[in-house]
Amino acid sequence: MSEQQSLDIKETTAAAAAADPWYSAYADRTLQMKQSEIRSLFAVVNRPEIVSLAGGMPNIDGLPLDYLAEFHARMVRERGPKVLQYGSGQGEEPLRKAICEVMRPDGIDGNPDNIVVTTGSQQALDLISLILLNPGDVVLAEAPSYVGALGTFQAYQADVRHIEMDNDGLIPERLEEMIAQVRAEGKPIKFLYTIPNFHNPGGMCLSAERRPQIVEICKREHILIIEDNPYGLLGFDGDPIPAMQALNPEGIVYLGSFSKTFAPGYRLGWALCPTEFTQRLVLANESATLCPTTFGQAAVAAYLSEYDWYEQVQKYREVYRQRGEAIQKALEDFLPELEWTHPTGGFYTWLKLPKGIDGRRMQDRAIANGVAYVTGTAFYADGETGSDHVRLSFCFPTPEAIREGIKRLAKTIAEEKEELGLA
Ligand code: PMP
Repeated sequence: MSEQQSLDIKETTAAAAAADPWYSAYADRTLQMKQSEIRSLFAVVNRPEIVSLAGGMPNIDGLPLDYLAEFHARMVRERGPKVLQYGSGQGEEPLRKAICEVMRPDGIDGNPDNIVVTTGSQQALDLISLILLNPGDVVLAEAPSYVGALGTFQAYQADVRHIEMDNDGLIPERLEEMIAQVRAEGKPIKFLYTIPNFHNPGGMCLSAERRPQIVEICKREHILIIEDNPYGLLGFDGDPIPAMQALNPEGIVYLGSFSKTFAPGYRLGWALCPTEFTQRLVLANESATLCPTTFGQAAVAAYLSEYDWYEQVQKYREVYRQRGEAIQKALEDFLPELEWTHPTGGFYTWLKLPKGIDGRRMQDRAIANGVAYVTGTAFYADGETGSDHVRLSFCFPTPEAIREGIKRLAKTIAEEKEELGLA
């Protein structure tokens, strides 16, 4: 470290300590945590005049609310003392059994004993990091990757290495190269974190051809795979390509979530684990929360057994298909000269900005023009790469609002180009 760098750090530390009397008490990892770019946009995007293509909030207006109201009341009346009690740190058995059915369209034949129920899959990411990561350990992730996962890995002081993708997802050759590079540096690689279906933020799927290749590479190199799949059931045209988990159950932790296929407010997700790993995760879960919400688990288990949940998923597919088509059409109409991904499911499209345009610089102008997006930098661990891309979420606004949002984005890009003399 140069003398100047160490002076800079001392000054920053002094300023932070002046602003927060508890600064010196924080652990090193706490100082690595930063607010996600999406959270900081929240206040702005909730203004009614803004079309938000920023957040990834699922569109749950179509939920059967009358039925849910009635069945929650019935559950409390008939089983209150049980469903309002503490439960198992692994999660309740009826829900773990039902989860096995939910994973079937994904080609997974899971064992309820290997499932750990968590507070959303976000908590599974946190607990997995807690179990596996020492400061400086390497985590392999796609370029770009899910902002919430990156934040967690960084909180555990991981060294995240991004690996290139194309329209067919993670590129196996690039994965091999990165493994070789990290090994040459003598650093431990703890896991590969991947989102194979309807990637966040990329929108693409890992092809059927590449799945066994990725699994084989990781098996050969003894690298655990974390397969994060919250969007798999939300393909516009049907069930997803079978999960990698089925190809190597003892080498993969598969993460699922009810946030997008049912409702995020229950905060319920799960991890299907290699056998020995399961107990480690149960211990971590107990230490974090004692047990996941018993009430929520009972509600979701009852919903899965007495309601046609798969039909509800089909309804969601239709909602997102309409919005996915609306954004593709609007991009073709208003920004035909640009490149973007063409997802066949999920929530997101990844748009490459014209040469010379920086998504961060353009943000205020976009907000002033009434549209919000998330700049690509949110999806890279260094917070710097990706300013030439933006993530556009099409999940929440109506198709008409999406069209209006893209029109405003096109106007914003044109103004920005003009100002920078790029027109
Ligand atoms: N993984 C990915 C790829 C996500 O996009 C999200 C939420 N946006 C999560 C995990 C966390 O979801 P939850 O905690 O609601 O299950």
